[in-house]
Amino acid sequence: MIEINEASIKKAIQENELCAYYQPQVDTITHDLKSAEALCRWIAKDGTLIKPDSFIPLAEKSQLICDIDWYILNETCQLLQKLTTLGHAIPIGVNFSRNHLKEHNFLDKLCSIVDSYHIEHHMIIVEVTETSLLEKNMSVVKGVSKVKEKGFKIAVDDFDSGLSSLSFIKDVEADILKIDQSILCEESTEEKSRLILTSMIDLFNNLHFVTVAEGVENQSQLGVLKTSGCQLIQGYLFSKPLPEDEFIQYVLQHESNHGDVLKMQGPLGASNLMMQAIFKKHPMIIMSNLTQDSYVMMAYENFHTHYSPASGIFSELIERDTNTMHPEDQELFRHTFSIPHLMEEYKKGSESVSCITRQRGDDGIYRRVESTDYFVKSPSTNDVLIITLCEDLD
Ligand code: C2E
Ligand code: CA
Ligand code: CA
Repeated sequence: MIEINEASIKKAIQENELCAYYQPQVDTITHDLKSAEALCRWIAKDGTLIKPDSFIPLAEKSQLICDIDWYILNETCQLLQKLTTLGHAIPIGVNFSRNHLKEHNFLDKLCSIVDSYHIEHHMIIVEVTETSLLEKNMSVVKGVSKVKEKGFKIAVDDFDSGLSSLSFIKDVEADILKIDQSILCEESTEEKSRLILTSMIDLFNNLHFVTVAEGVENQSQLGVLKTSGCQLIQGYLFSKPLPEDEFIQYVLQHESNHGDVLKMQGPLGASNLMMQAIFKKHPMIIMSNLTQDSYVMMAYENFHTHYSPASGIFSELIERDTNTMHPEDQELFRHTFSIPHLMEEYKKGSESVSCITRQRGDDGIYRRVESTDYFVKSPSTNDVLIITLCEDLD
């Protein structure tokens, strides 16, 4: 039996007794493998496997934990090199303890290690715990932004439903929120707990976070997560953390399999999938009432969404849109989608009106966009309605 103390942990690091196990994260709906998390294991000389709960808390009492995290990052980069060679690299999460806050060269060190393996930064997910973010105010929030600016993905680990957490996430530039297992406990099948979980995930989705549910062990938990629109699952139900060679086998055996997706759907998952399919072709959809001069817009990320409210006055929308067109296309656009012109076409019996223009997106780049207005009949009023589908042609 090994005695666990600072000295023995240090020795274990020096003698390469630590290693990373990798736990798959799969798509909730399709069960495709999307990413993974690296978790530290200590395999002693006699072959005993020591789980992190027995030594991480002790290592966290000093800067020793930082050595462990850097060690695991190196292991992860080596794995990513192998996966890249096999053509199957996926992003991998690495845990970073709050003690790194004391390391002044954290970001430089992170970049130099990852760069030394020629791994693209977006393949590394920097996992930080929610509590380490909460306890240290805005300087941490800024630190996180800098890591993100370098292209790394950020995951907030052990997210719970406390109100302080909820108000905090708006300030942190994270990409991923990991929902702690404790929120999924048995009662998650009870109506009220389920509603809290579902609303929480819905909120995260609206804020454009990817949500990962951790510690999913059974089908009933999976069922709840499917219907609530949680994107990724990490749990024993799909796989325990695996040693490197087994994980590589897992990756090779779990190439994207789109199978019978709709059969696996819960109702919310199905509608999300449908919306995704529609938005893939039409990054912006506007429903307007020409008679009332009003519209409601639904837009997908990266389209020109920042300058217009999601609903408002149709003619103002056209005027604002006109300003995002290439100067040579502005007159064509303004005329085609003016209410008088659309009404004229409607009276002539046209089914739709369409034009192609060059439009500047949120990123400042001009793209050829085809906007088509389809006239639709309102079942209850005589108002003239249109549905506008915008298609990015580039
Ligand atoms: P964590 O980061 O929240 O990692 C998830 C833990 O949940 C892992 O435990 C994983 O094995 C476990 N888990 C995953 N799915 C299930 C499930 O379906 N059921 C149950 N009961 N458990 C599941 P593990 O590997 O024992 O790690 C425990 C904790 O130790 C981690 O929690 C993390 O806080 C810490 N840790 C592990 N490796 C590192 C590391 O390299 N650096 C740092 N700083 N902390 C680490
Ligand atoms: Ca973690
Ligand atoms: Ca966690």
